[in-house]
Amino acid sequence: MSAGAAGAVLVLNAGSSSLKYQLLHPDTHEVLADGIAERIGEAGSSITHEQDGESETDVVELPDHHAAIERAMRFFADHGTDLRSADLRAVGHRVVHGGRTFYRPTVIDAEVISEITRISSLAPLHNPANLIGIEAARSLLPDVPSVAVFDTAFFHGLPDAAATYAIDRGVASMHAIRRYGFHGTSHDYVSGQVAEFLGRPTEEINQIVLHLGNGASASAIAGGRPIDTSMGMTPLEGLVMGTRSGDLDPGLVLHLNRVAKLRVDQIDTLLNKQSGLKGLCGENDFRTITQKMDDGDDAARGAYAVYIHRLRHYIGAYMIALGRVDAITFTAGVGENATSVRADALAGLERYGIVVDPDRNALRSKEPRRISADDSDVAVLVAPTNEELAIARQAAAIAP
Ligand code: AMP
Repeated sequence: MSAGAAGAVLVLNAGSSSLKYQLLHPDTHEVLADGIAERIGEAGSSITHEQDGESETDVVELPDHHAAIERAMRFFADHGTDLRSADLRAVGHRVVHGGRTFYRPTVIDAEVISEITRISSLAPLHNPANLIGIEAARSLLPDVPSVAVFDTAFFHGLPDAAATYAIDRGVASMHAIRRYGFHGTSHDYVSGQVAEFLGRPTEEINQIVLHLGNGASASAIAGGRPIDTSMGMTPLEGLVMGTRSGDLDPGLVLHLNRVAKLRVDQIDTLLNKQSGLKGLCGENDFRTITQKMDDGDDAARGAYAVYIHRLRHYIGAYMIALGRVDAITFTAGVGENATSVRADALAGLERYGIVVDPDRNALRSKEPRRISADDSDVAVLVAPTNEELAIARQAAAIAP
């Protein structure tokens, strides 16, 4: 009964207490099932599985990621899909940080695991969780090749001028300090979608991609090669995000320690989990923020203003970095859905050849679409991202 899954890829995205998964065919894009386990290792853990048009939630103790994958496998079996005998093509793992070592999808073996472990100090919140997912999948599906797809990979070739922090070179080199960039799988996928939509080769297009989700990043891509991106050594730099601050004066961090007497772990939590939109107005979900703005909430309006200000700062910087811009594209939860963000990010830029059409901008769709006016020199697009599909394709392409 598991014939339908033959050749499919199981994509895993393991967070510290969550595990998202999707089973899909990389060639036809058909999604056979997806699910999410939450609060792994905590009280009140649960898993939701969707397959054959049914959604089931089990509130069950999930002490670790191994237990979560095991529970998912039972859901699959209930639908006639035995993952062990399904002849899967690969398990594709999202791995956040590839350091300087990994810049293309990599088949996972013991050596790769030890190297990902070695570079975990660069992403202590993310890579250890990714590794736990990798170990669990390898032990539960030992016959299926596991492939790591790195969030940093697309930005591996960033020009030195964009990748270098102006600090002592010796210190930077000793501690692998440079700008790596993240959300690379999404920027890569979406920039490819843009080329397809415009019917032009990627090599001919200069574009800005704005990935605006709970995490957010911008990239400047010249002829298919990223020349700058807003996230840096960690996914904390750049745009204002749901709970992350984005750009700061580094002196502020020293002040928090010296004067406010916060410890490093407290500053880490403050900047990663209690800042951004949440820090500014108490909410990190854009739907709630929009609602509060409509209700006249000053904090929500202030947070939105900071968010848009930073976004325009990056758009302006990347227009200059690229010199000529053919397309500006919005993607991810906020970018695909928040009409006002798209309008406000690009308002008043007619003299730069950027004209958003309000009616096109207001249309809702799951398809890539143009929201710029016919007389806009720069194509403004909305293109849904699909990191799972991108990971599945890359994993399938190199699975032995
Ligand atoms: P992502 O990280 O790409 O899944 O994006 C998640 C974020 O997208 C959520 O936190 C929301 O702020 C935002 N979002 C999702 N749907 C909408 C919507 N219909 N309108 C505005 N924002 C949305």
